[in-house]
Amino acid sequence: MIKNDSSFIGSAIKDIVIVGGGTAGWMAAAAFSRFLDNGNRNITLVESEEIGTVGVGEATIPAIINFNKMLEISENDFLRATQGTFKLGIEFVNWGQVGDSYFHPFGNYGQDLHGINFHQLYLREHALGDKRSISQYCMSAMAAQNGRFGRASANARSPVSEIFYAYHFDASLYAKMLREYAENNKVNRQEGRVVDVVRHAENGFVESVILDDGRKISGDLFIDCSGFRALLIGDALGEEYEDWSKWLPVDRAFAVPTTNIMSPVPFTRSTAHEAGWQWRIPLQHRTGNGHVYSSKFIPDDVAQQILMSNLEGEPLAAPKQLRFTTGRRKNSWSHNVVALGLSGGFLEPLESTSIHLIQNGIARLFALFPDKGFNPIEREEYNKGMSELYEDIRDFIILHYHATQREDSEFWRYVKNMSIPTSLERKMDLFKSRGRVFRENAELFGLPSWVAVMLGQNIWPYGWDTLADALDEGRVRDAMRQMRDVYAATAQALPTHEEFIKMSGAWA
Ligand code: FAD
Repeated sequence: MIKNDSSFIGSAIKDIVIVGGGTAGWMAAAAFSRFLDNGNRNITLVESEEIGTVGVGEATIPAIINFNKMLEISENDFLRATQGTFKLGIEFVNWGQVGDSYFHPFGNYGQDLHGINFHQLYLREHALGDKRSISQYCMSAMAAQNGRFGRASANARSPVSEIFYAYHFDASLYAKMLREYAENNKVNRQEGRVVDVVRHAENGFVESVILDDGRKISGDLFIDCSGFRALLIGDALGEEYEDWSKWLPVDRAFAVPTTNIMSPVPFTRSTAHEAGWQWRIPLQHRTGNGHVYSSKFIPDDVAQQILMSNLEGEPLAAPKQLRFTTGRRKNSWSHNVVALGLSGGFLEPLESTSIHLIQNGIARLFALFPDKGFNPIEREEYNKGMSELYEDIRDFIILHYHATQREDSEFWRYVKNMSIPTSLERKMDLFKSRGRVFRENAELFGLPSWVAVMLGQNIWPYGWDTLADALDEGRVRDAMRQMRDVYAATAQALPTHEEFIKMSGAWA
C-alpha cells in the first residue's frame, strides 16, 4: 500500500542534532555532513569532554573500507592519522578446547569446483583422512599466518585479489579525524553536558536538549550517540532494552594499552580464559588489550589479574574497567530519535561488529531518510532491518561460546549447556548433518565465516553434500593441492605487514 502525505508526522527535516561525540557521533556527523548538508540543513553535535568517550573499539570488519570511501578519505591518510594496521581476520585460541587454535579469515576458502562449494570437497577429503587445516585453502589466512600483507590486486586472476581485509585503529584518533572532516563540512560542535530533554506535548517527539549552562538546542531529527547512557532513546523515550545476557553472559571488561614487543601482525587475537576472553589488537604505535568477562563467574580483581598476567608488552596506562549488558533496544528508531552506537545496543566485541552496526545504521537511515517528515512505515522498516542484523550477529557470537568442548570452569559449562535461540539451533543442526550453510535475509556473516567457526570449534558434520561425490576424488585432490601450493607461495612472496604499510606511505 502506498501511503499518502497524510501519513507523515512533523515537518521537513531542517535541523539535525547529534547527541554524543564518540565514534558513533562523529561517524554520523561526518556522513551527514557529506550527504545531507545541502545548504538547507543544520547539523549540530553536542558532546561533553568532561564525560568523555568509551575509548575502546579498535578492530573492524571489511565493510569499514566502504565507509571511508564514501567520505573520500584515502586509505593511507586514514592509516597514518589513526596509527592503523590491516586486519585479515581473528585468531581464536583456547575456544574449542584449551590448546586449540583456529583462524576466522575475511575472504573465501578455495575455489568451488563445478559449482560445488569448496568446503564440501574439503569435508570429503578430511573424512578420507587428509587432516590439514582448512586455513591452508584461504589466501587471507595464509597471509595472516605468515605475518604478510598485500592489497587486492587489480588482476582478478592473481590470488592476492582473494585477500579481504579490515583495519585496526586507535578509536580516539579516528574520532578526531572524523571530527575535523565534519567541522570542515560545517558541522556545528557544541561543548556541554545535556541535563534535560524537552518533548512536544502532543506527539512526544523530542523538541530540544538543554545543556548544563542553560543553552537550548532544538531539532527536527535527533541522533542519540550518547553511548551506554542512552540519554534520548532510553532515559527520555523509555524504549525497552532487550537483555541477551542469558546467552552472552559477559558483562564487563578491563582494557589496557601496551608497548609493542614485535612488528604488528595483521590479525586480532582472541584468547579464551576461565570466564571470558582477551583481545590483542596490534596498532603501529601500541597494542590494545582487554579482558572481557562475566562478573557472575569471576570477581573483578581476578579478571584484572588475568589480563595483567597475560600481556606481552609493558602497560602504558592503568587498566580501565567498562561495564555493559549485552542486548539491544527493541526499537532503534523511536519518534524522531534514532539511536546509533552503544545507546542502541551492544553485542560484545568478539567479532568486532559494533562499529559496523553504527555504519549500517547510518546507511539504513540514508536509505529511509525522513526528509519530508516522519512516516511510520519507514521507521518500522528501519527497526525491522536493525533487529534482523542484531539477531544474526548475536547468533554468530553465541556459536563461539556454545560450540565449546571446554568443561574446565563453571562459565564454560554454563555456555556449553545453555539453551540457545532456535534460529541458531537450526543453523547448527543443518551444519552438523551435511555441512550445509544457508545465508538468510541480509545476514552479515556468510558461508566462510560459519564454516570457519564451526570447524574451528570441532563441529565436524556427519557427512558431506552428496553432490561432492559427483567429482572424481583424484582430480579434486590434485586441484586442492594446487590451491594450497599457490596460496602458500603467494603468501611467502608478499611483503611483511609492516613493510607493506611503510612502502605504502601509511606508517605514521
Ligand atoms: P561513546 O564512545 O561512549 O560516546 C558517547 C558520547 O556521548 C561521548 O562523546 C560523551 O561525552 C557523550 N555524552 C554522554 N552523555 C552526555 C551528556 N549528558 N551530555 C553531552 N554528551 C554526553 N567496537 C568495534 O567495532 N570493535 C571493537 O573491537 C570493539 N571493542 C569494544 C570493547 C569493549 C570492551 C567495549 C565496551 C566496546 C567495544 N566496541 C568495539 C564498541 C565501540 O567501542 C563502540 O561501538 C564505539 O566506540 C561507539 O561508541 P559510542 O560513540 O556509541 O559511545
